[in-house]
Amino acid sequence: MQKTFSIIKPDAVKRNLIGHINQMIESSDLKILASKKIYLTKNQAEIFYEVHKDKPFFSSLVEYMTSGPVQVQVLEGENSVARYRKIMGATNPAEAEDGTIRKLYAESIEANSVHGSDSEENAKIEINFFFSGLELA
Ligand code: UDP
Ligand code: MG
Repeated sequence: MQKTFSIIKPDAVKRNLIGHINQMIESSDLKILASKKIYLTKNQAEIFYEVHKDKPFFSSLVEYMTSGPVQVQVLEGENSVARYRKIMGATNPAEAEDGTIRKLYAESIEANSVHGSDSEENAKIEINFFFSGLELA
């Protein structure tokens, strides 16, 4: 069993899509181990997306991620990191496969409804950034 980290981003929370997205996650046989709604501060969003700090879209991304609440979640299942990335679809919804979350729901390459960890190592870092051991027990 492998854990991964997911965010339902502000555009999706605003449009009442938490339930729809979680239904897609659960029907793909991924377990939602922990889930909470939070409001990211600018500082937290900057730390979370630090790997992109030199990209031209960074400041707009931080502004978007702090524009409303997000639902942060820990998912568990066999090969969950890769499987959740597949369920999410490509970063750019125009390139996402049919039936993926981003194809169905994303508004743009920035407001693309969901985040998912890109490796097991990053999943651990991201889970520990948002959740305590107590919340995962
Ligand atoms: N993003 C953006 N413009 C781009 C590429 C990415 O606004 O040209 C945003 C988008 O919200 C994306 C996030 O930055 O989900 C992180 O980018 P990454 O390349 O890590 O994509 P992901 O791993 O989320 O598919
Ligand atoms: Mg990424």
